[in-house]
Formats: sequence, structure tokens, C-alpha cells
Amino acid sequence: MKGIAILGSTGSIGLSTLDVVARHPQEFELIALSANKDVAGLRRQCHEYRPKYAVMADAGCAAALRAELCQELPGTRVLSGPEGLAEIAAADETDYVMAAIVGAAGLLPTLAAARAGKRVLLANKEALVMSGKLFMDAVIEHGAELLPIDSEHNAIFQCMPVNYRDGLTRAGVSRILITASGGPFRDYPLEHLADVTPDQACKHPNWSMGRKISVDSATMMNKGLEVIEACWLFAATPDRIQVVLHPQSIIHSLVEYVDGSMLAQLGNPDMRTPIAHALAWPERMESGVKPLDLFQIGRLDFTQPDPVRFPCLRLAFAAVAAGGTATAVLNAANESAVAAFLEGRIRFTEIATVVEATLDEIPASTADSIEIILDADRQARGEAANIIGSLSA
Ligand code: NAD
Ligand code: MG
Repeated sequence: MKGIAILGSTGSIGLSTLDVVARHPQEFELIALSANKDVAGLRRQCHEYRPKYAVMADAGCAAALRAELCQELPGTRVLSGPEGLAEIAAADETDYVMAAIVGAAGLLPTLAAARAGKRVLLANKEALVMSGKLFMDAVIEHGAELLPIDSEHNAIFQCMPVNYRDGLTRAGVSRILITASGGPFRDYPLEHLADVTPDQACKHPNWSMGRKISVDSATMMNKGLEVIEACWLFAATPDRIQVVLHPQSIIHSLVEYVDGSMLAQLGNPDMRTPIAHALAWPERMESGVKPLDLFQIGRLDFTQPDPVRFPCLRLAFAAVAAGGTATAVLNAANESAVAAFLEGRIRFTEIATVVEATLDEIPASTADSIEIILDADRQARGEAANIIGSLSA
């Protein structure tokens, strides 16, 4: 039996993880569940899965959940705050940690899991974007196993040769091709892009996801974050990574070899495939995902992303080239801008404006410690708030 802690169990990835785990009751035991503020949702999950721990990031919500569960489920300990999240990530009973909190809030508990030498199932790409080198160093130093959940990176991982950590050149890999659907606005009239609503932006053609990542997919900042994520996971330089628009979302990414081979991973767009892959690795197990019907799909298309429509992609490549804290600044500015867009305070097209202006204001420094990274994150959020204020005034 492997003990699992889920960071963010009430979210989209959290729910898919629970679905996969429930199909294999002999293999996995749910040790800990967690959420930000959804007391009713986490309470329901506790009744269904009877975990040893339940964590609410918000202290007031934790108190409310504790008051309810102390009578109903005395076997479940309710913890709170970032400390509680770090505690379940590093607990002795925990073997695998699903890192599925959205945004920078996921960084510290995910890092705690790596430092405790756990198998880390990484959905929270923002953690790696913020602290790539530090995080990868912690994985190696503490003997953690890092398995990508992001569908593209999981696909790349599946197509990589076993010795890819020795360096891509030595492993015979020439390029990584990351596919992208282009989101809901791939063909939307450019002149009307400034007027799209949050609900339009969250209506992804192929995937059902949380609101933040849905907006990131619409701007293609998601793909930018994924390019950065791929650089760290596979020790790749950005010039070896190509983004390919592939509207059907059937090929989840590809690896090109020096001998002319290109390996791809295909499947229906359903996150339960990468989740099951990472849980079972190096073996395979059922996920509940329908097999792919190639005759029904019929054709697969590929085009280059339009740089005018998707400026966030360029900003992400620029940040990874600048290095150090630049990617943490990019991430923080983007989180602030997406939140402002979802609250109706800025336009869709101003997300890129905020990110670019924040990157211009805050010089990149080396990202040698978690304190430096968190400080860059704070500074960027302050700067972004000023820029958002001036745009919405
Ligand atoms: P979501 O918004 O559906 O869920 C987020 C989860 O994190 C919820 O359980 C929420 O309670 C919790 N949370 C939010 N803020 C928190 C905080 N401050 N402290 C503690 N917990 C907090 O998001 P999602 O779509 O499941 O995405 C989660 C992560 O996985 C993101 O980093 C996203 O980029 C990545 N990801 C998601 C998908 C997908 O299909 N949804 C695919 C690839 C990668
Ligand atoms: Mg992805």
C-alpha cells in the first residue's frame, strides 16, 4: 500500500486523482486531503475517504472544519495553514504527494515533499517556474522521485530515453516539441479579443480545468510556463523547445531524436492518464480513460502559434532567457493579472501588458534561496498591483 497526500484535493486535478485512486483500493491509501477555503467540499471528501489528516490553508476555515469533524470523524486530524500543508507533504505515512495546488501557494508544500524524499507528482507547474534550480537540486539531494503530471511533460517523460538526465545531447535527443491547443481564442477575431469575458476565456475547447489555468491556456501563458517547466524537468535549453499548435489535443507532446525519429504520446485529453501513469510508474494501471479511437479522430493538424495573438509566449521565453528570479516575477505578475481579469478589473489583452510592464520594472537577480524567490514574488505582486490600478482607473 502506498500512502497518498493530495495538496489541493478539491480542485480539478485533485478530483481526477481521487477518481483514479478509488479504482485501486488495494494499492493506495489516502493519508491526507487539503483545500484552501472550501469547508463543505473538504468535509464531504473526508466522509467519503476517511483520511488521517485534512488541511485547510485558511485558518478560519480549518477551525470550522475541525468543529464539525471532531464529533463526526474523530480519526481525522484537522491541520491548518502552510505549516499543515508542509506537514502532510512530509509525514511518515505519506509515500506519494500529488502537488495540485494552483499558483505560488503550492511552492512551499511541494518543496517540503521533495525535501522529505517523497514521490512528487507535480501538477503545480508554478512551483517549478518560480524555483526551478532550487527545486531540482532538492529533488536530487533528498532522493525524491519527480514525476510530471502536466499532460505535455508527462508525454515528454514517456517519450524520453532512460538516460535523459545525462544530458539531451548525450541521450541523442535533438528537440522537444510541446503541443498546445491554442485555447478558446485560437481563431477568434483579433480586434475583439480585448472584449472577451472571463467565462468565454474559461471555456476550453478540449480540457476541463480550474479557472486560473483556463485563462492561462487562453493567453497561452500556460504554454510559456510549460516551456520553463520543461527546461527544468529535462535539463533543456529553451532553443531546443518548440511550441506546436495542435487543436485536437490528441498528441500531448513529442521528442525528436538525432536519427530522425520523433516519438509522440497520444491519448484522449483526460488528466487521469498522466495521473495513473505517475502513480503506477514504472508499471501501468487502468485510469478510467476511454481508449483513443483513431478512426473517429480522422486527422491531426499542426501550425505555428501566432506571436501577435499570443504575446505571453514571447514573454515567457524572454524570462527564461533572463534566468534567475525573472521567471518568478513572470509568474507572480501573471497570477495578479489573471486574478484581476477574472474579477473584471482589466481586459483580457491587458494580462500581457501587466506581465510585460512588471518584468520591465523588476530586474532579475540570482535565485539562490527560497527567501530571494519569495521576495521577488512579493515585489512583482506589488508592482503588478500598481500597474493594474493604473489600467483600471
Ligand atoms: P483548481 O483551481 O481546480 O484547484 C486548485 C486546488 O488548490 C483546490 O483544491 C484549492 O482548494 C487549492 N488551493 C487554491 N489556493 C490555495 C492556497 N492558497 N493554499 C492551499 N490550497 C489552495 O486548479 P487545477 O486546475 O486543479 O490546477 C491545479 C494545478 O495543476 C495548477 O498549478 C495547474 O497549472 C496544474 N495543472 C492543471 C491541469 C488541469 O487539467 N486542471 C493540467 C495541468 C496542470
Ligand atoms: Mg499542460
